[in-house]
Amino acid sequence: MPVGTLASVKGVPQDVLEELGVQILLGNTYHLYLRPGVETVRKMGGLHGFMAWDRAVLTDSGGFQVFSLNELRKVTEEGVTFRSHLDGSSHFFSPESAMAAQIGLGADIIMAFDECTEYPASRERARESMELTLRWAERSKKYFEAHKHEVPWKSGQPSAISRQELQIPPPRLRSGLASRLGENARDDNHREGTKHCPLVADHRQLLFGIVQGGMDRELRRESVLRTVEIGFPGYAIGGLSVGEPRELTREIVESTLEHLPADKPRYLMGVGTPEEIAEYALMGIDMMDCVLPTRAARHGLLFTSQGKVSIKQAQHAQDESALDPACGCRVCGRYSRAYLRHLYASNELLAQVLNTVHNLSFYLDTMRGVRERIRTGAPA
Ligand SMILES: [Zn+2]
Repeated sequence: MPVGTLASVKGVPQDVLEELGVQILLGNTYHLYLRPGVETVRKMGGLHGFMAWDRAVLTDSGGFQVFSLNELRKVTEEGVTFRSHLDGSSHFFSPESAMAAQIGLGADIIMAFDECTEYPASRERARESMELTLRWAERSKKYFEAHKHEVPWKSGQPSAISRQELQIPPPRLRSGLASRLGENARDDNHREGTKHCPLVADHRQLLFGIVQGGMDRELRRESVLRTVEIGFPGYAIGGLSVGEPRELTREIVESTLEHLPADKPRYLMGVGTPEEIAEYALMGIDMMDCVLPTRAARHGLLFTSQGKVSIKQAQHAQDESALDPACGCRVCGRYSRAYLRHLYASNELLAQVLNTVHNLSFYLDTMRGVRERIRTGAPA
């Protein structure tokens, strides 16, 4: 999932995202809540209407950003008080208000409000934090169940996930997000062309739970079991990529995956490099989001089939070759490294646009390759 923090993948118009084959975008509740505000987005038909994007959207709970951007936050049983990074004004998120915000934003998948445990944390601290997240998960679900009909989609508008399912041929192996979501959907509303895919124009949001537990395998296991007991249509692994060594991330992902239900989407939050996303997908992760492809692009760091390229370097100044000859994106098909380097060195807006388009294309190609390997059963 490319990250579109403020209902925009920085520098890339929605039609280009469609051309790249983006199936789902991530929006950040914390940022959208502060600006333009949930009410504005709600009145415009939610994020789909507001940003003119009819493919799927996922919003995070706001928890991670409140914890990572706010030094002055105050956590109580009730929720979190925090200050806006824009104007210093004071705000409060509880599981209930975070759900209300996400229902108003109208994404297809929304996330339970959780506390992202900091790293490093003692076992006691990780347990306390996990217990709080579990209590908040119950409150999130309770509020969501009572208010999910308030989603601001147009009447009769099928959810983007349903619509997307109609366009995707049924996979031979029943793996991947679409088929997992399909298993949860009602099949009382068949439409033409859905015979092999009993997924429907179902008019609803999905609320996913989040597993915490710090870097402790035993706590992670307990967090999974108790989150699954509360019951969600999908599960995220949170609290990773918070400064721990990569090897530890991998270890915790692996041991957490063991306990997560394989018939529900499994979402690893906030990873990673192209190598990492391929590795995690082959381990059984279905969904990931990361700012890396877009943020790195804006800093001139490009991912290619031959490794990372820092386009700002002088060695590219007269290089006529494509950024990545193996890449089929519109940037590599048209422009030279020399031109991309010039745009970057001159601080042209186009540099950010083209670099982002290529990096997204490379990430999406990486995932297309992984899906192909899963479909054909080719070895990793
Ligand atoms: Zn390219």
